[in-house]
Amino acid sequence: MINVTIWNEYLHEKLQSEVAAIYPGGIHGTLGNALLAAAPDEIAVRYALLEEDQHGLTEDVLNNTDVLIWWGHMAHDKVSDDIVERVKGHVESGMNLIALHSAHHSKLMKSLLGTTLDLKWRHGDSERVWCINPSHPIAEGVPECFELPLEEMYGEPFDIPAPDETIFLGWFSGGEVFRSGVTFTAGKGRIFYFQPGHEEYPIYHDKNVQRVILNAVKWLGKRNGE
Ligand code: ZN
Repeated sequence: MINVTIWNEYLHEKLQSEVAAIYPGGIHGTLGNALLAAAPDEIAVRYALLEEDQHGLTEDVLNNTDVLIWWGHMAHDKVSDDIVERVKGHVESGMNLIALHSAHHSKLMKSLLGTTLDLKWRHGDSERVWCINPSHPIAEGVPECFELPLEEMYGEPFDIPAPDETIFLGWFSGGEVFRSGVTFTAGKGRIFYFQPGHEEYPIYHDKNVQRVILNAVKWLGKRNGE
């Protein structure tokens, strides 16, 4: 069994009715339901939220997490430094991390990678996600190219260290390009950053996006031996 913890700041869904309409059970709920529907015998899901004590990320939870998925945007600065240090320590000891979309600017990602992770952005674009490393396990069953008709543009330059692997490239209708799926190593832990996922668009209902996240969970969850 791969133990997945999905962390969400869970604010846009409560504050903006248009986001709530897309993700009535929260972004975390949509992500979790998709994983459980795809691999109920392989994956166990729990949720952790900003509003919970210790943001839901107690030592006990982290000790029992193989893969942590992180979604945050408007409240990066509300995440306590102590919890960031704790989670970072677990990643460096071998817990693996999937950072989604605006999690690029989380304290956790900045601390793990040591760069600003700055990028260009613009709302209301469309994206073609190109798979440029089709033999990678994270790309299994994903088409060479898939389209997200509404997505926030994230553009290069993306201030990250040289990734271990670049699996997806995003091309936006405004002409920008972006390293949309990249892996890193932090101590004994592995990180997969995946760009799609702006909260105002139904990105996490897209079957290709769900497949990428499922593949990443399986790949990262098996790395340390089940
Ligand atoms: Zn966004």
